[in-house]
Amino acid sequence: MPEERQEHHITCIECPVGCSLLAVRKPEGITVTGNRCKRGESYAVQELENPTRVLTTTVWVENGVHPLLPVRSARPLPRHLVPEGVRLLAGIRMSAPVRVGETVCGNIAGSGVAVIATRSMEALHG
Ligand code: SF4
Repeated sequence: MPEERQEHHITCIECPVGCSLLAVRKPEGITVTGNRCKRGESYAVQELENPTRVLTTTVWVENGVHPLLPVRSARPLPRHLVPEGVRLLAGIRMSAPVRVGETVCGNIAGSGVAVIATRSMEALHG
């Protein structure tokens, strides 16, 4: 029976060096090469076991000096929940004024992660 072995090429984003990592999943565990430090190994293992991403998008804002407000998740959330999070945020309407860091959604897509405004938005009137 052939050995079960999966190779994954990953670019580490933990620092600007951007090491090219090779993570190999074998029955006995995951091995990582190409990393210059331990953070790269942790990153690669997480990418295989439980990949996460920071969600960034915009939401509609009423009575603002601009129609769209940039937002992001307060911390990374499971990658598979990001598309649903973006879809849900497309249906949210904030009302200006909005302050940077203000919560737009307290628990996006059931992830337990909040989404916050990344800039303030002045009101157009009043
Ligand atoms: S492995 Fe270490 S040195 Fe390389 S990109 Fe990741 S954090 Fe930076």
